[in-house]
Amino acid sequence: MAFTIHGLPVSQGIAIGHVHLVSHALLEVNHYHVAERHLEEEVARLDEAVATVHGELVGLKAAATAGHSHSEVGAFVDLQIMMLADPLLIEAARRLVLERRCNAEWALVQQMEHLVEQFEQIEDPYLRERKADVVQVVERLVKVLLGQPGHLPPKRRDGLGTIVVAHDLSPADTLGFRDHNIAGFVTDVGGPTSHTAIVARSLAIPAVVGLHHIRQLAEEDELLIIDGTRGVVIVGADAGIVEEYRLRRAELELERSKLNRLRDTPARTLDGELVNLLANIEGPKDIGHIRAVNADGIGLYRTEFLFLGRDSLPDEDEQYEAYRTVIKALPGKPVTIRTFDVGADKALDTVSPRFEPNPALGLRAIRYSLTEPKMFLTQLRALLRASAHGKLQIMIPMLAHAHEIDQTLALVDKAKAELRAERVKFDETVQIGGMIEVPAAALALGMFIRRLAFLSIGTNDLIQYTLAIDRSDEAVVHLYDPLHPAVLKLIGGTIQAGARYGLPVSVCGEMAGDPAYTLLLLGMGLRNFSMHPGNILEIKQQVLRSDLGELAPRVQRILKLDEPAKVRDAVARLAG
Ligand code: PEP
Ligand code: MG
Repeated sequence: MAFTIHGLPVSQGIAIGHVHLVSHALLEVNHYHVAERHLEEEVARLDEAVATVHGELVGLKAAATAGHSHSEVGAFVDLQIMMLADPLLIEAARRLVLERRCNAEWALVQQMEHLVEQFEQIEDPYLRERKADVVQVVERLVKVLLGQPGHLPPKRRDGLGTIVVAHDLSPADTLGFRDHNIAGFVTDVGGPTSHTAIVARSLAIPAVVGLHHIRQLAEEDELLIIDGTRGVVIVGADAGIVEEYRLRRAELELERSKLNRLRDTPARTLDGELVNLLANIEGPKDIGHIRAVNADGIGLYRTEFLFLGRDSLPDEDEQYEAYRTVIKALPGKPVTIRTFDVGADKALDTVSPRFEPNPALGLRAIRYSLTEPKMFLTQLRALLRASAHGKLQIMIPMLAHAHEIDQTLALVDKAKAELRAERVKFDETVQIGGMIEVPAAALALGMFIRRLAFLSIGTNDLIQYTLAIDRSDEAVVHLYDPLHPAVLKLIGGTIQAGARYGLPVSVCGEMAGDPAYTLLLLGMGLRNFSMHPGNILEIKQQVLRSDLGELAPRVQRILKLDEPAKVRDAVARLAG
């Protein structure tokens, strides 16, 4: 029997495929009794997972002590390695398998809960906190036992792809789908501007998130359809429904191919103004997408994806190669590379997770970079070396304070001085810009304008921080409103200030790639839009139909409105 569930559409298109259940959370551990004759095999499975995690931790320690990470990481990893050998954890779990016939995951989680309870009784706050290490070790073991997205099933013979069904997925997991035959994914949690959703869009994989119980409702291998445009998921569809969606998918593909005719048409408005349509990328693998749409350059290269989902950090040469490859692929075009924006939903695997009460307000982006000056300097050196090969601009994420810029510029000077002393070539005039994605930055633009060469508005975070809602939490997604009058004031004010002081301003958040906002942003004075390459031609179509002389005064009136319904109506009428 087929049934339909509605969630949040985050990546367009239709996918038809077979379910592959992926687990991450301990909550999802199945409880079952193992048959007597399979008990030895179950213990062997547990022992194998222990050996795998031991290998992972030893690798992690080697990376941490290689000097790139927090110095105390080595000690934490040692502690976790010791826990793997501790009879109170592993031996006790083995006994639960053999004596109570629990499956390995269940045995581990039971023993973990027992140990956590004991830790909670401890007076000493340091020792009490060590319960987090027990949880992390068990989490690693359970992940290995359950299989991770990295271990995806092989391509199927019936021509249908695999649809990943998970409680949650990290951006790094999603990026790993690129190398597998993944037709789409659906998750219980998540928001449309979470980094997981952004990666799905850049890979053009249909996705629906915020489905609440899909992980429980879908069964391994069953047929599932994703309508990533409407946010609809159909489980167990019959042949008739599958045929209907096949047709719809063909229609969507036809519409997209019509847009391809605009590839080499300059993005000029009806009144002759040229608009730059730039691409957001995650790495050199996106070069094909940029060429397919002939983007005017790169407005945002999210370099953190080079650092995520791996046990050791990329060294200077690896980074240099990645940046140089992208720059050389776009001769004569600007390439804006953002320094790594790790933290919040983009946590590094090389650092022991810390308890963070509010990760989005914590050690993220430039804040993280400045606490790891050695790692930051390595990136700056790699970027400067790459600058010798084309038109590189360096961009700093999530700035809020003048001293963050000053410290960064001092590190850039240090990197330049080192390279000069080593007689390594770089572009002496490389421009440094910053992202406006914290309301404080948009409200105190003077200190940014005085110090930087360009600005780029990150609307995803600007909206998150202005409206105080977590962009990856589906429970508050209905409050995520790009047309909120406060958000529009901050965006409009930044574009205007840039024009007044002759500083180029772009928008590189998801708003720039959403055709619903193109006319509004053009009317605000925006001439640089950066988005995932898949949206460039659709936005170009909007630009080609627009008349700035007519739009600008209408948008100025919209910016004065402070009644949401009126703003919404007025924006909708811009297209009419
Ligand atoms: C943004 O915040 O709008 C942005 C472009 O950066 P990210 O989505 O990577 O946080
Ligand atoms: Mg951001």
